[in-house]
Amino acid sequence: MPNNDILLEVSHVSKQFPVKKRKLHAVSDVSLTLSRGELLGIVGESGLLICGECGCNYRRITRSSGEIVWRCANRVEHGKLYCQESPTISEQKVKDELCDALKLADYDEAMIKDHIEHVVVGRDGSLEIEIRQQTIAQILSW
Ligand SMILES: [Zn+2]
Repeated sequence: MPNNDILLEVSHVSKQFPVKKRKLHAVSDVSLTLSRGELLGIVGESGLLICGECGCNYRRITRSSGEIVWRCANRVEHGKLYCQESPTISEQKVKDELCDALKLADYDEAMIKDHIEHVVVGRDGSLEIEIRQQTIAQILSW
């Protein structure tokens, strides 16, 4: 494929945030190339939900019952080796709490992406929602 068809190319991108005295690895050594006509989907993992125990991303899982839940990716891949107490969270709970935090009547993925920095999942299943700084002032006036 000719190079002028490459729209996006990233190499070895890592991004970390300090979360509760730990380093959160939002992205760890990601490389990808996006060419014209391709659709990019980073499937099943979101930088939005973060495990409060190990700092890993949460992963979206569809259970055989059809229920959609989120679990720590570290725990999914390695069992309790690196992450022992992270809870499984239902997608509905995530959506409900995000809507509450942004005072949305209905779940709106674009709004969530625009306004939520990240959500740290506590061991007790609590969600610590961090709203982007520039949004807080807006919410107060909604
Ligand atoms: Zn974890």
